[in-house]
Amino acid sequence: KVRSDGGGNIISLTKADHKALSTKAIIEKRLLIALDKKNLKVLYQPQLNLETGKITGVEALVRWEDEEIGIVTPDVLIPIAEETGLINDIGAFMLEQACLQAVAWHKKGLDLKVSINSSVREFRDKNMVQHIRKVLEKTNCPAKLLQIEITEKFALEAEAETSIIQQMKQLETDGIVFVLDDFGTGYASFRFMQLLPLAEIKIDQTFISTLQYQKKAQKLIQGMIQFGKSINMRVLAEGVETAEQLELLTSFGCDAAQGYHISHPITPKEVEKLLK
Ligand code: C2E
Ligand code: MG
Ligand code: MG
Ligand code: MG
Repeated sequence: KVRSDGGGNIISLTKADHKALSTKAIIEKRLLIALDKKNLKVLYQPQLNLETGKITGVEALVRWEDEEIGIVTPDVLIPIAEETGLINDIGAFMLEQACLQAVAWHKKGLDLKVSINSSVREFRDKNMVQHIRKVLEKTNCPAKLLQIEITEKFALEAEAETSIIQQMKQLETDGIVFVLDDFGTGYASFRFMQLLPLAEIKIDQTFISTLQYQKKAQKLIQGMIQFGKSINMRVLAEGVETAEQLELLTSFGCDAAQGYHISHPITPKEVEKLLK
């Protein structure tokens, strides 16, 4: 339980450390197999346009149930995938699935924008733009159907890496929309709005959950909506769980909403049923 760090210092690993290390190793090993066999799944969470009352988009969310280790939720999966670099493979899988699905819906006359989540590590790949263009081409997916969500952590890191900003701008020129996810929870900087080609902000669910009871939360959200509008960005509220929340957000002029009150993340078939 005790080892040296190579620099003469003794590091003692607690039982919990050992468990975390081996859990990570097991997840990494199983994830490699799952990616190889394309054993990951995608669920889509509908996004409601509050102006038209129609579902106009969906967010693609990764789901993984491994036959040996069971369900691994994104909260556990994504950080490990980011650390090991397997996030690039998950990203590639999600991108292809999202494009195939968007096209399948498009052919059925359903115009749904599909959002995927991207980690900054994926954009450190200098071939990211070519990769995305190739997948769009291969799947016949119009660029305007694809949205890419980035987190504030992504934005913070991208700020110092001009190559990432350049790639985002190239993709924006193609017609891909970038969305700032979990707005308000991280390192929100007004500079992001100036530097990065962002078209939408998603107000984090932590603000929405206290909306009904806290005047302060209401004022904060109203402020975020006004801020977004003043710089021509769309504003979506995530984690909407009640009719009251939806009503308040609509009265504040919020553009769109996503959350369990509208729909949980569901399969493509269920999305089609919901639209009918
Ligand atoms: P996110 O992008 O902010 O996605 C929203 C999360 O909130 C999803 O959790 C969704 O299931 C959950 N959610 C939606 N509506 C509600 C609601 O009304 N109430 C509550 N309490 N939760 C709601 P999920 O699917 O577990 O994903 C967690 C996070 O993992 C995502 O947060 C995203 O950051 C990340 N993630 C998921 N899939 C991917 C992926 O393919 N790639 C990357 N890089 N990250 C992903
Ligand atoms: Mg997201
Ligand atoms: Mg979010
Ligand atoms: Mg989140």
